[in-house]
Amino acid sequence: MKVLEIENLSTHYLLGAEIVYAVDGVSFDITAGETFGLAGESGCGKTTVAKSIMRILPDNGLIAGGEIWLDGQELVNLAEEEAKKIRWRKVSMVFQYAMNAFNPVLQIGDQIVEVLQQKEGCSKEAAREKASGLFEEVGLEASRLRDYPHEFSGGMRQRAIIGQALACDPKLMIADEPVTALDVIVQGKILDLLDKLQEKYNLAVLLITHDLSVIAEESDRVGIMYAGSLMEMGDVVSIFKDSLHPYTAKLIGAFPSVVGEKTKLEFLPGAPPDLTSPPKGCKFHERCPFAKKICGTKRPEYREFSKNHFAACHFAGELDLRK
Ligand code: SF4
Repeated sequence: MKVLEIENLSTHYLLGAEIVYAVDGVSFDITAGETFGLAGESGCGKTTVAKSIMRILPDNGLIAGGEIWLDGQELVNLAEEEAKKIRWRKVSMVFQYAMNAFNPVLQIGDQIVEVLQQKEGCSKEAAREKASGLFEEVGLEASRLRDYPHEFSGGMRQRAIIGQALACDPKLMIADEPVTALDVIVQGKILDLLDKLQEKYNLAVLLITHDLSVIAEESDRVGIMYAGSLMEMGDVVSIFKDSLHPYTAKLIGAFPSVVGEKTKLEFLPGAPPDLTSPPKGCKFHERCPFAKKICGTKRPEYREFSKNHFAACHFAGELDLRK
């Protein structure tokens, strides 16, 4: 069952007289129990996609087009009062820096209790009891509910925010760089915890990270974003073994592998384009080693090359991406 369906989403930020085209025509879906990994360089629009789903864009952000369906409910045209009702209850978010997600001057337990009282209408006692159960579920002692955020290690804070994200039994959990700030041992434990909880609750997970090893390990399907658009999307094996898009291949080549032959890491020269005036044609053409004349003038269609494997490149399937 599809939990999330995003169709042609475009999200902009207004900067004075300028418009930042942060997300431009993005479409994907996630089914219950599935992890969809969204990867790409910083600033490519991954987090803006998440904020659009959560309807927590800053004041200068607006969804300029497209549809977002969550559990059968369209979100783009939802009034703010209605949007508040779906946050935490249908979709929750694990933020990159858990320290910033909690109020530093309030006990963590009180913050989880507040979510339960506001969203579920629980009494204080019932909310406290549920918070204790959530803490135990994420591997924390219930007695630590009285701690303040600064008393937790990074891994403990991440466990607590995962507990809070589960408080109202959401259908979709968005995990935005959930382990980026953690050491690799703790990363592994947090990812194991997310797997266990996903299986138990049949959660749809949108995993956002620039760390391709986390994407490869955790995702069923993957979308590769560049300059606000999806360049390629497919199942995890197709993306890593049979990449169709030069940007995907460069991104994978720039990432060290701990297994297999040692190869020289690739370097992708240049920088992503200025999204206030995205380039004509293929957005990647200024950095693409395979660019031809047409790439600078005509936007490539986003096409399906094999079952559920899509790419936006005029020459996808014809290029030797190992070059
Ligand atoms: Fe490179 Fe052209 Fe393909 Fe864009 S369309 S990725 S510039 S070959």
